[in-house]
Amino acid sequence: MTAEAPARIHRLAATLANQIAAGEVVERPASILKELLENSLDAGARRITVRLEGGGLDLLQVEDDGVGILPDDLPLALERHATSKLHSVQDLHAIATLGFRGEALPAIASVARLDILSKALGCNQAARLQVAGGVAVINEAAARGPGTTVRITELFFNVPARRKFLRAAPAELARNQKVLRQAALAHFSVAFHLYQGPRGLLQFPAATDAQGRAERVGGVLGEEFLRHAVYFELEDQGLRLSGWLGLPTYNRARGDEQYFFVNQRPVRDPVITHAVRAAYADVLYKERHPLFVLYLNLAPELVDVNVHPAKAEVRFRDARLVHDFLFRSLQRVIAEQRPGTVISTTP
Ligand code: ADP
Ligand code: MG
Repeated sequence: MTAEAPARIHRLAATLANQIAAGEVVERPASILKELLENSLDAGARRITVRLEGGGLDLLQVEDDGVGILPDDLPLALERHATSKLHSVQDLHAIATLGFRGEALPAIASVARLDILSKALGCNQAARLQVAGGVAVINEAAARGPGTTVRITELFFNVPARRKFLRAAPAELARNQKVLRQAALAHFSVAFHLYQGPRGLLQFPAATDAQGRAERVGGVLGEEFLRHAVYFELEDQGLRLSGWLGLPTYNRARGDEQYFFVNQRPVRDPVITHAVRAAYADVLYKERHPLFVLYLNLAPELVDVNVHPAKAEVRFRDARLVHDFLFRSLQRVIAEQRPGTVISTTP
């Protein structure tokens, strides 16, 4: 820079600020789907239906039967740092919802056309808002049963550089399906359906008992996995680990059938990865990968979920404690396992 005087500092326009935030949370259709599913789940939905066209590139719609949004609040839902989920700094230290940053909807709306139709519980009027590239184009009364429908079209119409990083429709579809499967594994009591055009591609009826949950796991990882896995529940010092752990003999060349949830949130974490690897170290070749669906639950104040805009990473307050608990638990399950056994120390 060779300017003779410093450039003046100015506030970014809201739309531009949202587009910058979108760079972190809206990478592709699947990242939008993840955010919309989180919103539906946070709204207490019992039934969530996803409709895609062109793998989500042409249309991505999420419909739920959750608590909905009050008509007066609808414009706020599209405003940055506006949320119904967080009130104080104290809340931030013990987050109980999947969302909390108040960023997803405005970020998405700044790089696409977003249509939201919602009817709040106990309110007899539904409302509809349409925003394109951050600008509201329609705000009107509408009709709908209780719940919310969010419809995304024209993704990245105003950010051509981003469009270039999108893959062909089948690849984007596969990513969307993966996101839905992850949500389905973390929220058994919710029914999920995914359609591409008229075709129903994923159907997960609400799973309310152990058999229903096992069926859902079989639907995602295959029946074969269930025959080669142990279901277990272990608890120690406020940490609870449960799920289906694949036998070392049933392994894959790639580690793409590994699901790990911390307080029902799918996460990647080096502490977890290391503990799992170490537990299998003696019974599995280095280049092979086990299959598993694991759930770690702990008090929300023991884990910081506010370390990554897309909330895909977490930070444990006591990483050593978590690591050792995971390692010991998994090693024990691997040592004692027979397919079909249930290991439990939970009263
Ligand atoms: P966050 O989820 O972090 O609060 P979002 O931008 O994703 O931020 O959503 C903003 C707000 O809009 C939410 O706090 C919630 O009140 C409302 N909202 C969004 N989607 C839904 C939905 N499907 N059902 C009910 N309320 C919703
Ligand atoms: Mg959200």
